[in-house]
Amino acid sequence: MKTLLPTSTAGSLPKPVWLAEPETLWSPWKLQDQALVEGKHDALRVSLQEQQRAGIDIVSDGEQTRQHFVTTFIEHLDGVDFEKRQTVKIRDRYDASVPTVVGPVSRQKPVFVEDAKFLRKQTDKPIKWALPGPMTMIDTLFDDHYKSREQLAWEFAKILNQEAKELEAAGVDIIQFDEPAFNVFFDEVNDWGIAALERAIEGLKCETAVHICYGYGIKANTDWKKTLGSEWRQYEEVFPKLQKSNIDIISLECHNSRVPVELLELVRGKKVMVGAIDVATHEIETAEEVAETLRNALEFVDAENLYPCTNCGMAPLPRHIAEAKLSALSAGAEIVRSELT
Ligand SMILES: [Zn+2]
Repeated sequence: MKTLLPTSTAGSLPKPVWLAEPETLWSPWKLQDQALVEGKHDALRVSLQEQQRAGIDIVSDGEQTRQHFVTTFIEHLDGVDFEKRQTVKIRDRYDASVPTVVGPVSRQKPVFVEDAKFLRKQTDKPIKWALPGPMTMIDTLFDDHYKSREQLAWEFAKILNQEAKELEAAGVDIIQFDEPAFNVFFDEVNDWGIAALERAIEGLKCETAVHICYGYGIKANTDWKKTLGSEWRQYEEVFPKLQKSNIDIISLECHNSRVPVELLELVRGKKVMVGAIDVATHEIETAEEVAETLRNALEFVDAENLYPCTNCGMAPLPRHIAEAKLSALSAGAEIVRSELT
């Protein structure tokens, strides 16, 4: 029987202290070589166990296998020089020293497929795997080769499609593309961003999702949010075209954000992963707060299409906070489930 309101997380979960420095975003690994390979898998097992214990229905690796949601993928590709660095503005928000695209980009071997197979072996629950989206990938690089954002995104979309097909074959049920850049570059999203995303999912039979959020609870993001005014209408710019796209699921931020919930009407018919957990605060939501966010979303999302979720990844949070938030998500979903049945 299909679960009503299946819960999941948007992405990352905290890493154990022996794998990487806790409460730090993009923290370097503490292990090397074979010890790192084993350490990542052990952390994946722990993260999975925590999700299952909290009652999460669609589980993931908690991104224990990557340091950064974009660069860990790019590190495995040819054509990008990580030694040659340039300073660029990421998502029009903050300066960062980034690697340079120096030649044609290509994937010589799978990036996450072995990790996904490992996760598949550990659980019978549906699993979701996250990849960076093409537009967010190009936004974290300096392009000295294609000199065209659109063309580079298209090349990455082809590579992502190769990886996605192998993840599907490894037994992944939902492949999610993280595209926070969709909340920033509206003209490009509509000109070619959604087309590039559709290229990335071409031929897939498993479900596909796109995660669009306002970012981790880091200072650059919270400062940016202060400039967005009392109503965040970014989703309004891209939802109409996403509604017509082949993407099955849209993962977005709702709780504690200033996104007007009625914008969900623009993607009516799609499955929606509704962010009911704020990742930018240590305060733990009550089950009733989660339920309230879900009830509000139900006015615009049909119950069979509503997937309770977190606003974004929880990697920078203390572990006990993240665990409590997962339990709150489950408990809130259970309240609304019982109201619906
Ligand atoms: Zn996010």
